[in-house]
Amino acid sequence: MPVSALLATLSPDLLAHPLSAGPAPPDAWAVCPACLAQDVEEGRPPYVRATWTHPLTTHCQVHTRPLISHAASSIKVADDEMVFDRHPERPARWDALGERPFDNPGVVARVASGLRQREKGRSEWLKLRFAIRDIVDGLGTLTRGVHPRALMNHFEEPLFGRRSLIGALRLPVGWMAEMDATTRLLYVRVALFVLAEPPDPSSADVGPLGAVWLRDLYAHSRPRGWEARFKHAIRDPLLLFATQLPRETILALDERSLAWPADLRRRWTYAAAAGAIGGYVF
Ligand SMILES: [Zn+2]
Repeated sequence: MPVSALLATLSPDLLAHPLSAGPAPPDAWAVCPACLAQDVEEGRPPYVRATWTHPLTTHCQVHTRPLISHAASSIKVADDEMVFDRHPERPARWDALGERPFDNPGVVARVASGLRQREKGRSEWLKLRFAIRDIVDGLGTLTRGVHPRALMNHFEEPLFGRRSLIGALRLPVGWMAEMDATTRLLYVRVALFVLAEPPDPSSADVGPLGAVWLRDLYAHSRPRGWEARFKHAIRDPLLLFATQLPRETILALDERSLAWPADLRRRWTYAAAAGAIGGYVF
């Protein structure tokens, strides 16, 4: 049977969002190389800490440094070939993501504290989890336009000088569950950057994701005078979501943002309104 005939038997929805059980360990593991080195030094077999296994954990709380994927770690907890009966196939395009200037200590600490107190402050933690999940889903969605690409591309290209993985046609749900640890760490860290309080517009512009980046991005789409009139809003990366994604996705995010923490929901509302006023939403 030709492939086209096979594809015709599948719902277009299923084709757009193929179901997957997600990666198995050790691809799913994120580890702290310093903790593993300590294990070896102190004569213990290296092991995966429970706190690293949460999909939103991006940093080691002991060493306050970014986690890396087990694949990128020189100290292995398990031998893939022996334990999992297969040869390790590593996505060569992904490198271990070390320290990066875009990490915002405030929002990283907010997630860490949410993780620690997730039983006590359950509803606030859930709200934060939803916000990060939805931002990752948005990053994985194709932008509108003639050459649609995953929204992530707007972050990945200036930060790493490379293109992103292919995006989804419609806003997926729980995109990060499908990812190996290297990809998930990248997406979650970028989502945390997006959700961090944007810098004051009068503060110095540092790094590849500063004011120049956003100004360049809007150079082709903004109405004349946009920059001068909305200077205060130009640094919020949520504006990208409200301007680059298709209308259907923006509306879906709007609906989902009702479940976010109040401050993030407010920021999203402002960004969506600015996008609509700018005439970007269609
Ligand atoms: Zn550590």
